[in-house]
Amino acid sequence: MKRIIVNAPINAIVEKKEEENKCYEEVKRPRILEGKTVKIKLTTGNLYTTVNFDKKGKVIEVFLNLGKSGSEEKAFAEAIGRLISLYLQRGGDVREVIDTLKDIKGAYVVWQEGKPIYSVPDAVAKVLEELTGEKVEKNMFMKCPQCGEDAMVYENGCYYCRECNYNKCG
Ligand SMILES: [Zn+2]
Repeated sequence: MKRIIVNAPINAIVEKKEEENKCYEEVKRPRILEGKTVKIKLTTGNLYTTVNFDKKGKVIEVFLNLGKSGSEEKAFAEAIGRLISLYLQRGGDVREVIDTLKDIKGAYVVWQEGKPIYSVPDAVAKVLEELTGEKVEKNMFMKCPQCGEDAMVYENGCYYCRECNYNKCG
């Protein structure tokens, strides 16, 4: 076995590595977040998916609650929610989450609103798709010509930027 001898103290190396790898901006969770909870009936019980948004309409938290307490499925569902939240709060893209989880097949198919649901992860992807897709379609947040943030809304006949207060009427 090849041994690698390192002269610097191990702590120093670990610290440097962490610093170098931190290329994301961590989202600090505000005390109050607005969200939506979607209920889907699965064969393992009701799945409640709670999706929380920040003030710009970006998903930053997902909670999953499945069926009765104490089951293995419930634990896995909770873990998926925690991992999605962890990823999103470290700069992850919700579209990547949808893309990764969508169409994962489980042991059953249930139909919800005319759409097939194949598993807990697939259900989560479809809920996220529905909740975030709705926003995209309605163009709730548009790019602001002044500050460039996706924070501009159309209200009462005027465009208004929640980031820099830019507004344009008519
Ligand atoms: Zn702006």
